[in-house]
Amino acid sequence: MASGRKTDAMITIDGSEGEGGGQILRTSLALSLVTGQPFRMERIRAKRQKPGLLRQHLTAVEAAKTVGCAEVAGADMNSQTLEFRPELVTPGNYRFAVGTAGSATLVLQTVLPSLLTASATSTLTLEGGTHNPLAPPFDFLARSFMPLIHRMGPCVELELRTPGFFPAGGGRFHARIEPVKQLSRLVLSERGAIHGRRARVWLSKLSPDVAERELAVVRDELKWRSEECGMELVPHAKGPGNALVLEIEAENVTEVFTGFGERGRPAEEVAELAVAAAKVWLEANVPVDEHLADQLLIPMVLAGGGSFRTTKPSLHTTTNADVIQRFLPVPIRVEQESELAWRVRVGAD
Ligand code: ATP
Repeated sequence: MASGRKTDAMITIDGSEGEGGGQILRTSLALSLVTGQPFRMERIRAKRQKPGLLRQHLTAVEAAKTVGCAEVAGADMNSQTLEFRPELVTPGNYRFAVGTAGSATLVLQTVLPSLLTASATSTLTLEGGTHNPLAPPFDFLARSFMPLIHRMGPCVELELRTPGFFPAGGGRFHARIEPVKQLSRLVLSERGAIHGRRARVWLSKLSPDVAERELAVVRDELKWRSEECGMELVPHAKGPGNALVLEIEAENVTEVFTGFGERGRPAEEVAELAVAAAKVWLEANVPVDEHLADQLLIPMVLAGGGSFRTTKPSLHTTTNADVIQRFLPVPIRVEQESELAWRVRVGAD
């Protein structure tokens, strides 16, 4: 939606509210682009150990500035205050590089909403980390999130060129975004029968033994078969890296759970974290997990409504709902349905 300006008066967002991290900034940038509403943010990432703008957040600000031809003040390293005044969303061919191993997928998360309803197709090259802890890994975007976006109308093709891991970075992927005029509503009530599952270990400059140990946990704990488990060696890798990706394909949704390797973290522990997340979702028998839940809110609000059933909403989800409502008057309600299941309703119905 290359919209005109909603109002010239800036709204002020307190970045220390709720979750108090980078998502408040990215959601504000995304919705400022979509609505044309300028904003000022104070106390950016106040609840993080190193508050303020880090490389990844600065790249997101730069990307939003470029796509929205925006006037920006305060876009400096460690800055805790930012003013952002967008002019016009301009689809095009862009390259955004974080310059460190910071998450490139979160940069996409910032500009994607505005490009989903822009006036023409965009192609983006994104560089940085593609498999970072505390961020959507590439596989999650490609296999889980984007197919749902596709069901809402736009077609987003993703292509991973090189995976990038902390601390070396060097990852790169492409996105081609074919917009629509208006997103369609999405309702995700049941996940349906599970008809596919795959465990894949990304391995960069590490011993295959790491992958073997992770996959052993998956076979043992989830009872997945050997032919459902595999490893992917990263060619021409810049540095060491490891992620275990569990993909579960159900009739109405595909979910992706990831364990991230870290220096000093045993392979078994990496696998246990991914397996535990998958078990929470499997046991709740809902379509949407914790991460998909916070990330579906913006597209659903842009569609004017929708709903989904999910596991216990995270602070990311409730904070995101609050920030979104500062920009758009679309109600977002969260109701507990049973011990393990919640319903999130976006819109008036
Ligand atoms: P910081 O808070 O340090 O600024 P940040 O900018 O990386 O960190 P957060 O505010 O923590 O961002 O937001 C992280 C986003 O990444 C959320 O949308 C969350 O759902 C998503 N995310 C985190 N882990 C995963 C995962 N394993 N799979 C999919 N998405 C994830």
